[in-house]
Amino acid sequence: MEETLYDMAVIGAGGAGTMAYLRGVLNGNRVVLFTGDADSKRKGRATWVMDVDNIPGMHGLDRPITRTSASTLKWLKGQEGLSELGETLKAKVDRVSKEDDCFVLEYTSRKASASLRARNVVLATGVMDVQPSIGGSIEPIFPFANRGEAIYCVRCDGHRTRGHSLSVVGRSDSAIHIGSMMMDRYGHEDVPVLTNGTGADFSPKARETAELYGMELLESPIVEILESDDGGLAGFLLEDGRKVGSSRSVIALGIIAYNELLTSLGGEVDAVGKAVVSDSFESNVEGFFVVGDLVAGSKMQIYTAWDEAVDAADEVDRRVRARKRKIRRTSRSS
Ligand SMILES: Cc1cc2nc3c(=O)[nH]c(=O)nc-3n(C[C@H](O)[C@H](O)[C@H](O)COP(=O)(O)OP(=O)(O)OC[C@H]3O[C@@H](n4cnc5c(N)ncnc54)[C@H](O)[C@@H]3O)c2cc1C
Repeated sequence: MEETLYDMAVIGAGGAGTMAYLRGVLNGNRVVLFTGDADSKRKGRATWVMDVDNIPGMHGLDRPITRTSASTLKWLKGQEGLSELGETLKAKVDRVSKEDDCFVLEYTSRKASASLRARNVVLATGVMDVQPSIGGSIEPIFPFANRGEAIYCVRCDGHRTRGHSLSVVGRSDSAIHIGSMMMDRYGHEDVPVLTNGTGADFSPKARETAELYGMELLESPIVEILESDDGGLAGFLLEDGRKVGSSRSVIALGIIAYNELLTSLGGEVDAVGKAVVSDSFESNVEGFFVVGDLVAGSKMQIYTAWDEAVDAADEVDRRVRARKRKIRRTSRSS
């Protein structure tokens, strides 16, 4: 049997990857989607989104990204005329290389290791938020992240801090920027910034802002998370003995970019490891697109991920059609 050469391989099935796959199939292209393994899913941001307030129609949905992705993939499987265009693999892509004018993707699933070929790749592996180390471990913050009391996206959940005591855990200017914005927007009177030990890197301008807003910059490491009677976030105990009362905390320590599949091909990334892309979300590696949170300058939202994914899939479709047109011309003239 002849090996399938896919028009597009999509790596990652969060908000961005699912939309790229859906658009590709709806465009009539041959598309394969790698949904990742259990470990990559756990490390994906999609898994951490318990509910969404900032997108019309998503209110009240439990784990909206994973649920909507699953229902989209299920729907596509049942659509006559579309189902044969797409294939989903519960597998993690380990390596991508370029051979002639296509990409070879090596992947591992629970069943086996294998490879396949695609003319274009859409990378949607996302990023992960850096977690604060407390007592030498990142585990202590997780229960509060699951309860939505440790907040990672202020555009998504900043409004939920209203009426709560708030802190920001961060070491760079963005921590001060977030703190002052939360004070302006939601009426917080005091938002301390906890740098959690060494490595604070505030510019003079940011320090000036902190002073203007009366924000304390506390550099002592966090040694313990304080809990309320019902197990909720109550604050932080610092190594210098200080207790910081805080029932909500924005974690602003930066991100880890899952960019290895791009950089191994010589793809360009910015200072924090995010992909530098063109207007159609193509990296400097021809035919290799990047969408979603991994894109430099992205708003890191579900709806921006969707839009980026559509732009990339449409550009792939344009190339697929150009190829078909060329074949049509050649066969006509011969
Ligand atoms: C706590 C939290 C709350 C948020 N709330 C909102 C909100 O309310 N509204 C909003 O618009 N946005 C929200 N976001 C942001 C939103 O989650 C992302 O913008 C969106 O999911 C797009 O991400 P993505 O698809 O680029 O990456 P992700 O969602 O992180 O998905 C990446 C996927 O790639 C897969 N993967 C990784 N490596 C591989 C590999 N090698 N092979 C195969 N697969 C791989 C993973 O399994 C994962 O499924 C929130 C984020 C967080 C952390």
